Amino acid sequence: KENLLEVKNLKTYYPIKGGFLRKTVGHVKAVDNVSFSIKNGETLGLVGESGCGKSTTGRTILRLLDSTEGQILFKGQDITKLQGKSLREIRKDIQMIFQDPYASLNPMQMVGSVVSEPIMNFQKKSLASLKNEVIELLRKVGLPEDAYYKYAHEFSGGQRQRIGIARALALRPKLIVADEPVSALDVSVQSQVLNLLKELQDEFNLTFLFIAHDLSVVKHMSDRIAVMYLGNIVEIAEKESIYEEPKHPYTQALISAIPIPDPRKKSNRIILKGDVPSPANPPQGCPFHPRCPQAMAECSLSKPLLKEVKSGHRVACHLY
Ligand code: SF4
Ligand code: MG
Repeated sequence: KENLLEVKNLKTYYPIKGGFLRKTVGHVKAVDNVSFSIKNGETLGLVGESGCGKSTTGRTILRLLDSTEGQILFKGQDITKLQGKSLREIRKDIQMIFQDPYASLNPMQMVGSVVSEPIMNFQKKSLASLKNEVIELLRKVGLPEDAYYKYAHEFSGGQRQRIGIARALALRPKLIVADEPVSALDVSVQSQVLNLLKELQDEFNLTFLFIAHDLSVVKHMSDRIAVMYLGNIVEIAEKESIYEEPKHPYTQALISAIPIPDPRKKSNRIILKGDVPSPANPPQGCPFHPRCPQAMAECSLSKPLLKEVKSGHRVACHLY
């Protein structure tokens, strides 16, 4: 299968303004030299603690944020500098599902109009055919037909996320960036929404960049997983390799934090010391070294690069 998306050496830095002249005095390196690709129809899980740069990566790919350096190739075309009409064209193909269905929908807008909006922005359609299309979308995401005339505030969290999904699907996108789409929902509803996303993926041949803050949510969804820490990808591999033989000490800690359902097994949770350092002032050497249980002398001196340790399994750590 071909790559739908290829991200090469992507950097997204935010300027830090200081002094009363508001001069740039430094940068927050939110995304610092990130590279990965996603094949057509595949789901890449992007995992890391809050503030690690995963949402910024997603928003940069969506062209909601400007990159500082690097390339975003979509179907082979570099989209990092697109403007105007050509950017509009790309917007049809890349859509987003947001974390918070309460915040991302206008509660006073009728659901029919919420889902119609992206279609009307791009296509001329009769009201009747537009309505048919929207009702069909509502049906596909598991909402009743009469949802069309209701308001977003009349729905539960899970149903609102379904409205958000219908809206994201309206233009038949190729790539969907789903930024923690279930983390604001009750646990009981989460798996329903995840299952729906999987069904829709098959039906619409969707490719997902699926962002999450822990490894349990992405397990079900992903084909491959990338783990981010302080703006860097520290490990990327097939899902099975990540869960069965995590190589990076940070990934190992994240895996150990997944609750074990079997009460007879004792958990070997690795507790990391300290907090994530500020991306405005990242540590020298390996960004993880102040917290790493296996840090060695060289870890504070030189930054490890992503290296392939096995076919398709890359790790940035001096242990390998
Ligand atoms: Fe730990 Fe060193 Fe590997 Fe960084 S490079 S993860 S500090 S062992
Ligand atoms: Mg986020």
